[in-house]
Amino acid sequence: MTELDTIISHYINGRQVDTASGRHAPVFNPAIGEPCAKVALGTPGEVDAAVAAARAAFPAWAATPPLARARVLFKYLQLCQRHVDEFAAMVTREHGKTFSDAQGEVARGIEVVEFACGIPQLLKGEFTDQIARGIDAWAMRQPLGVVAGITPFNFPVMVPMWMFPIALACGNTFILKPSERDPSASLLHARLLKEAGLPDGVFNVVQGDKVVVDALLDHPHVEAISFVGSTPIAQYIYARGSASGKRVQALGGAKNHMVVMPDADMNMAVDALIGAAYGSAGERCMAISVAVAVGDAGDALVEALAKRTSALKIDDGMAHGAEMGPVVTREAKQRIERLIGEGVEQGATLVVDGRDYAVPGRENGFFVGGTLFDHVQPSMSIYKEEIFGPVLCVMRMPDVGSAVELINANEYGNGVALFTRDGGVAREFVRQIQVGMVGVNVPLPVPMAFNSFGGWKRSLFGDHHAYGPEGVRFYTRHKAVMQRWPNTASTGPEFAFPQMK
Ligand code: NAD
Repeated sequence: MTELDTIISHYINGRQVDTASGRHAPVFNPAIGEPCAKVALGTPGEVDAAVAAARAAFPAWAATPPLARARVLFKYLQLCQRHVDEFAAMVTREHGKTFSDAQGEVARGIEVVEFACGIPQLLKGEFTDQIARGIDAWAMRQPLGVVAGITPFNFPVMVPMWMFPIALACGNTFILKPSERDPSASLLHARLLKEAGLPDGVFNVVQGDKVVVDALLDHPHVEAISFVGSTPIAQYIYARGSASGKRVQALGGAKNHMVVMPDADMNMAVDALIGAAYGSAGERCMAISVAVAVGDAGDALVEALAKRTSALKIDDGMAHGAEMGPVVTREAKQRIERLIGEGVEQGATLVVDGRDYAVPGRENGFFVGGTLFDHVQPSMSIYKEEIFGPVLCVMRMPDVGSAVELINANEYGNGVALFTRDGGVAREFVRQIQVGMVGVNVPLPVPMAFNSFGGWKRSLFGDHHAYGPEGVRFYTRHKAVMQRWPNTASTGPEFAFPQMK
């Protein structure tokens, strides 16, 4: 075994290299609460090396016909399909989510590769014959150059796949800075892309923390940054990246509500809430963390939720039948438990308490039990903060109008759901709600790969949503061309601004 097998290293110009910084961070298996590897924490010099490799690879990759680029992605797609379980096991080991949930994450990432394989169709330009006499005009989209992706811990396979398959298909070269909490999958992507025939330097990985992020943000030869993570960092990335003239899309945090109307199918609503609140231990940007019970829906809802929340099967994500695994770090567990305490102090009713939860045989794991609050008020910190853990807050509202007002006043606008049998109420809700992704009797309305993903308000900084057609627009720039091939003698210069003749 070489040193590089135990260190999760960079991948620059087709080779794994450790950092020269001497800095490494432990990567934990959250189910057992112990380190399982260590990750390199890179330097600005290593960012320079990755940018140099990506810049050198750019002209040839950008000049490669879109169909030839798509063929590399087709091979990579097939390799990903064969390695789903390997990816998923890495995710469960370093993130903690259940193995079946991790498989689902990989499947959703693969769908973006399927979309990116259609790039020859997506990059077709526009053409206008005879836009003026003897002149044709067309518009085309060209790649930007070296682009970078900075990604969060909660989807270590899928979120990078929101970015690089489309960026590469469009002809860019890419640098990935994965989360330092669960970085292993980045190297498997690198290996499979190489096996698929991607030239060295087109895809690079620099591991690390703020030092690497800042070097990417300030680097004069990084043209665009895609970021997904928490709102304060998203805002910082947007401000600093755009200040140096880069194109930036920065997706941030969330507080997602699900409104349950009194006429909703209560069993369906409860199933939806249990999965959307506690799946992946609540560590999803589309997790439902607030259930808004309208009218007399509240009592029946809380009674059913309490039973189901107390009965969740919480275990090591690899254990058969586990419905929920641990949270990602000891610090995350402590923060979630502190917020639960604040909820109690601030007067919410704690119906199910998940603090001090222990799994037999996994006593040092970072487990938090499913937690349920009732009678939560907008002023409480459990409502105002993104908890990012298995904590569901129930709020009571007299009517749908007050529910819409509550949600529209929230600083986040990522996802929302409405459960009802009334089409008229649903239609008006969809039109009025100030949120980017809306589900009607669907708790996690995550758009498919051929649509685009993004929130409103402080859930997204920038102009483009992620993947789908918006991803293609983000990773390309528009060029307008007017061309004349005169077949008659010149009619002499024109001094007035040209007009249609
Ligand atoms: P995070 O903001 O802590 O980290 C995200 C990335 O930023 C990581 O790569 C990290 O190394 C880097 N980073 C962290 N602190 C930094 C700093 N001070 N300066 C520069 N870079 C820094 O987020 P996380 O905890 O990894 O992920 C969870 C968050 O991501 C949640 O808020 C969740 O809602 C959000 N998220 C949003 C979406 C979305 O699509 N909107 C999707 C997934 C996750």
